Amino acid sequence: MSGNPESDPFASLRHAMVEQQLRVRGIRDERVLAAMERVPRHEFVSAYNNEAAYEDHPIEIGQQQTISQPFMVAAMAEAAQIKPADVVLEVGTGSGYQAAVLAELAAEVFTIERFASLAETAQKLLAHLNYANIVVALGDGSNGLPQYAPYDAIVVAAAAPEIPPALVDQLREGGRLVIPIGSAQEQELFLLRKQNGTPATQKLFGCKFVPLVGRYGFHPAT
Ligand code: SAH
Repeated sequence: MSGNPESDPFASLRHAMVEQQLRVRGIRDERVLAAMERVPRHEFVSAYNNEAAYEDHPIEIGQQQTISQPFMVAAMAEAAQIKPADVVLEVGTGSGYQAAVLAELAAEVFTIERFASLAETAQKLLAHLNYANIVVALGDGSNGLPQYAPYDAIVVAAAAPEIPPALVDQLREGGRLVIPIGSAQEQELFLLRKQNGTPATQKLFGCKFVPLVGRYGFHPAT
């Protein structure tokens, strides 16, 4: 996805985003920083928001959902410690942006979304951008995506009241789960690592995500 800077008027905005929002706030993983510098974030928002895409906040993408703030995408990707051969699951495709960032870091990304309209738009865009290593699925991702498990890393882009057991089950030994846990209003980002079959959890920092809706989310899916 490396864009030619001369043909990409957004390259300088993207570079500023990496330097001023990510590096100064402590994102250290050079692979993550390079991925964030490559993925054309403006493509994942409506044309009206193209310039705003590189600003330091989430942006609405329809269905009352948002593309996460750039820092949050980078922090989750860094916490997930993704290696080039990894198979990754993302829960909450939304615009598809975070899936693209994860796909720059991993061998294969499966991403699941509960809204068909968002899943379809994201799938078309990711194909248009030539991401051949992303599969977009439709359904309740609080159950994970068992048919492609186990995963080396699972990143959940929506807030859950507790860690969904299915996600822990679908992690490979040594696998990492990054997930915001708390109330519908505010959460803490958790990093869980499965070691010898046992999950060890660590709190990273406070955050605010849209709710995970589903079996292990805030409300049962209809
Ligand atoms: N990662 C996205 C941001 C996602 S916002 C991006 O880069 O744009 C959270 C998304 O999670 C929303 O699109 C919401 O519809 C979706 N979501 C909420 N609950 C879900 C569930 N149980 N399964 C799958 N997707 C869910």
